[in-house]
Amino acid sequence: MSEASADILVVVRGTEVLVEHGDETVRLCSRETALRFAGAPVFVGRSADQLWYAAPAQADLELPAELGFRAARSLFAEFPEATVHMVGRSIACVEFEQNHHFCGRCATPTTRTFATPGAEPNERVRVCPNCGLTSHPRIPPAVIVLVEHDGQLLLARGANFPPGRFSAVAGFVEIGESLEQAAHREVQEEVGVRITDLRYFSSQPWPFGHSLMIGFHARYDGGELRPDGVEIVEADWFRRDALPQLPPPISIARRLIEDFLLRDATPKN
Ligand SMILES: [Zn+2]
Repeated sequence: MSEASADILVVVRGTEVLVEHGDETVRLCSRETALRFAGAPVFVGRSADQLWYAAPAQADLELPAELGFRAARSLFAEFPEATVHMVGRSIACVEFEQNHHFCGRCATPTTRTFATPGAEPNERVRVCPNCGLTSHPRIPPAVIVLVEHDGQLLLARGANFPPGRFSAVAGFVEIGESLEQAAHREVQEEVGVRITDLRYFSSQPWPFGHSLMIGFHARYDGGELRPDGVEIVEADWFRRDALPQLPPPISIARRLIEDFLLRDATPKN
């Protein structure tokens, strides 16, 4: 059913993508327009009946007034979630190609098992023709933990958060750690408290940070709330009727919080 004209080509520059501004609207530019500004494309994946490709932007572009680069994060509110997902994946695919031109072991230029538009590759990998080392995209897991105690939520403000924004505690899993160990350690390190009753909630790919977020609920088990002052500059317990500014609805952090609010609002027997 799908025709070549329905394929999508996302032009990527860092974590920005090329968009077309209309009156009050913004959309990904057409494939025809994208081809004028794109470098070599890579296959991203399939969404519904469309094939998605992504390409780095050519250098030193002069764009017409109706086109511009927009930070992918800023498109959360304007694009459907499936589109946001594919845009994020496009950025990650382009970055993988750009960061693996050379073998990490012997520095020989790598080749890719790359499909030309119209054919899907079996695997996303770059191969060293000299020593045979294969490089796949690395997806470091990160845990995110929403801690509750007496109907209140532990929310923390990261050093790089927008002013006023609080969220659940999160951090990367270290080598040799289980998700559970990482959850306990991160909460203890970042805000100084111990947790118990750790329960898996859901996960979310986070291509802008090249990660997979794994969300947990947990209960407070002891210790004094004490932000580490480095990654976390502020942390506090919040009642459901006095929440601070929260992360955007698309984030797993927000979904954890919404899940708590919904559960907490359910009348108990
Ligand atoms: Zn090599």
